[in-house]
Amino acid sequence: MQLLHEYDIIVAGAGIAGISAAIKAGNMGASVLLIEHYGFVGGMSTAGMVSPFMKHSINGVSLVEGVFQSIEKEMRKIGGMIDNGFYANSFRSAAFNLLSSANVTVLLHCEIEALKKNEREITEIHLFAEQNRFEIKGKVFIDTTGDAYLVYTGGFNWVKGDEKTGYLQALTLFFRMGGINLVKVAEYASANRHDFFNWMDYNFNFDKIISVAGFFSFVKRAINEGRLPKEIEYIFFTTLPESEEGSFNTSNVLGLDGSTSSDLTKAELIGRKQANDVVKLLQDEVPGFENSYLLETATQIGVRETRRAIGDYVVTGIDISSGSKFEDAIARGCYGIDIHGQKGENSRMEHLREGEYYEIPFRSLMVKDADNLLVAGRCISSTREGHSALRIMPTSSATGEAAGAAAALSVRKGTGLRQLIYSDLFRELSYNLKNL
Ligand SMILES: Cc1cc2nc3c(=O)[nH]c(=O)nc-3n(C[C@H](O)[C@H](O)[C@H](O)COP(=O)(O)OP(=O)(O)OC[C@H]3O[C@@H](n4cnc5c(N)ncnc54)[C@H](O)[C@@H]3O)c2cc1C
Repeated sequence: MQLLHEYDIIVAGAGIAGISAAIKAGNMGASVLLIEHYGFVGGMSTAGMVSPFMKHSINGVSLVEGVFQSIEKEMRKIGGMIDNGFYANSFRSAAFNLLSSANVTVLLHCEIEALKKNEREITEIHLFAEQNRFEIKGKVFIDTTGDAYLVYTGGFNWVKGDEKTGYLQALTLFFRMGGINLVKVAEYASANRHDFFNWMDYNFNFDKIISVAGFFSFVKRAINEGRLPKEIEYIFFTTLPESEEGSFNTSNVLGLDGSTSSDLTKAELIGRKQANDVVKLLQDEVPGFENSYLLETATQIGVRETRRAIGDYVVTGIDISSGSKFEDAIARGCYGIDIHGQKGENSRMEHLREGEYYEIPFRSLMVKDADNLLVAGRCISSTREGHSALRIMPTSSATGEAAGAAAALSVRKGTGLRQLIYSDLFRELSYNLKNL
């Protein structure tokens, strides 16, 4: 692969936000370089094995269209998605296909060493790849690293954690099990509802993704007997397409910061031990798991929250819960505040009323004091509460796509990002405010 000395747009981080940004900008005719330190794309959706896509529809209408729907369509085509759940491997393949059709140059196994900038503009990114150093110029940069790494490296402003306590959300190592007798699990849950969350739906339809969450008495007994660490609060899994498989969002790693290597190392070890302990408990005691087995653990522990950029607008928890609308709206969401509590902190899940939604303004993607740097995905400019709602995959894809569109438009018109005319940008986006 021949790397160019300059690209119109450089996107850092190939999670769902970066993939969506790169595909959109590529399809709009810009030359795009997407850089990623893993050997595959997808970020939390693949390395973290996070599935399913969280709520993003109201009254049967999806609030996120465009690239997100193309990814879904591509995954269904290869048999890797049903309902709202998918396999990490299908996500990788679907994303690679779409990136290639959009003529995006993808550089994997690559580390960002530094940024060169003139006060408010980044001019070059310095990369370490193939045991060589590369200095690549770009007109617009998009930070989709999840950790606001370009913002941090470029010396722009960012925040991290809760505004008062500094708490970061809990970390979770996903794992996948096979050989589960789902009918037996469903029968057990239906007959023991007190042992499960009250939001569970007991009309089990095995053609769709099923969520099972609770097993409180098993967890409590195992903790009392020293067989499970006390951080585990419940066992939660969702089924996977046409299989006897479940994807477990159960481990609960507290007190560590997912943006530092030393804390991440500790978290990986704790998460792995928790996953193994939960698997043993399920196999030994829980009806339906007698013949189950561990298929795989995620490549990396799931990180919900690290740095957030400070942008021209900061999306707050009140914007989420009151359904704020904006004149420069570029995306919409209907998922509420969802904080997985830290040690000493209660978890929160605050749903919006059915039918309500909020908008996300373009200004929350524009990094303050930077003229050619956008953020998208889970590191956009927001308070901790705002972030906890905006971070889900469909919304991350929507902000990514908007960042890609803005960057490509700015290059096409030769205008700064802040000088773009909103109606021009809106025309490039794939949703219509009137369709609700
Ligand atoms: C445990 C857990 C459960 C979740 N559950 C759900 C759920 O059920 N449904 C849902 O919709 N959402 C869920 N989420 C949220 C969602 O998965 C993420 O917030 C979302 O995927 C973030 O996407 P992103 O593209 O912004 O960031 P990421 O997916 O984090 O992608 C960032 C990418 O940047 C790369 N990168 C980072 N730094 C560098 C660097 N310096 N150089 C090169 N590359 C770099 C990373 O390797 C990664 O590929 C969950 C998250 C977690 C952690």
